[in-house]
Amino acid sequence: MSDTSKKGIDRRDLILASIATVGASAALAVSAGSGNAQGAATPAAQPASGTGTLYTGDVIRGKKVVSALDVHDLEPGLRHFLYFQGAQMPTGQHWYVSVTVAKGARPGKRGILTSGVHGDEMSNIHTVQTVMNQLDPAQMSGTVMAVTDVARPAIEGMQRRWPNQGRGLDLIDMNREWPGNENGATAPSRHAGLLFNRLLRPNADFAIDFHTGTTGFEVTAFNIGGMDVPEVKAMMELYPVGQIFDNHVYPGVLHNAFMDAGIPSFTPEIGAARVLDLEMIPLFVEGTMNVLKHYGIVAGPMGRTGKDVSVFVGNSAFPILATQGGIVEHLVKLNDKVEPGQKVAVQRNSFGEVVAEYTSGVAGEITGQRSDAMAEPGNPLVFILFHKAPSEGAESYPE
Ligand SMILES: [Zn+2]
Repeated sequence: MSDTSKKGIDRRDLILASIATVGASAALAVSAGSGNAQGAATPAAQPASGTGTLYTGDVIRGKKVVSALDVHDLEPGLRHFLYFQGAQMPTGQHWYVSVTVAKGARPGKRGILTSGVHGDEMSNIHTVQTVMNQLDPAQMSGTVMAVTDVARPAIEGMQRRWPNQGRGLDLIDMNREWPGNENGATAPSRHAGLLFNRLLRPNADFAIDFHTGTTGFEVTAFNIGGMDVPEVKAMMELYPVGQIFDNHVYPGVLHNAFMDAGIPSFTPEIGAARVLDLEMIPLFVEGTMNVLKHYGIVAGPMGRTGKDVSVFVGNSAFPILATQGGIVEHLVKLNDKVEPGQKVAVQRNSFGEVVAEYTSGVAGEITGQRSDAMAEPGNPLVFILFHKAPSEGAESYPE
């Protein structure tokens, strides 16, 4: 994980406005754990991927539990609800994730829709559920699998990161763990490895990992992925949303684990965390149904796409970080266009005195804003999506 930070700033941490978690201690823990895991002769005594479906024999609330899944084994023309057995808790029970499979009556491409990699994100879960509820397996050619609650313990607390028990309570960002390690040093690493090897990768011809902004930092409707990959570009352009962030981001995120496995993938971002944005969600439902039509899984005419809206494509996000403590007042709104030098926020101390003014360093569109009004130095306040020419050198980050 230590190679994922450039210039001391983890770009996606900033994009999603998380508090930087990929710090030195986390990197040390991971590297130390890898050594321990290699030294311990305790490989998982279960078959690797591609070995079919394994039922554990457990049934939870009427849903059968699997520890490996091959959608080819499921009966065609039906919707299937299963639990996948993830990592163990300290008490010895498992974290189970919810798996919905719409298995088409006829063979075809296999798509995967995931949400819940971060536990405070809700509109993405609702988007995936809405798509699945619109599908009629009897009319489909191919399969769509949804996993809506990937980081189960994070979702239980409706918080971004997974609370694990390594050295007292610790919080791990699961979207820095992929493709995971079944023998890793932490529960989220093992959970990621189990899911990726036995559930996700073996059943994917394409995959979409849905997210939102994070607690305290909201974002516009946009897709992130590498437009230089034709399959990814084609999918992202099928969404009627106003921004595309043309960027591969970095290793460790789920969509890049898919990409590294040769499976086209990207990440939609659907507004603010913790809430259902019932105006924004339908745009992503429509775009996802377009993707399923694009792959021939679902029949019917395309809905609205990026061609029907004005899409702003940027390849970089200019971060504005707080330099002071105090209350921040935004002077622009999400999706607003800004110019270099334009003042975008002011910050006041407890006396009401202005302690900082923040200006854009680029011409672009506002893609994310801190929604918690109080900020301390270092907090991301604004992200501005812009196009950086290849000839331009290193990005300049404000203090
Ligand atoms: Zn997220």
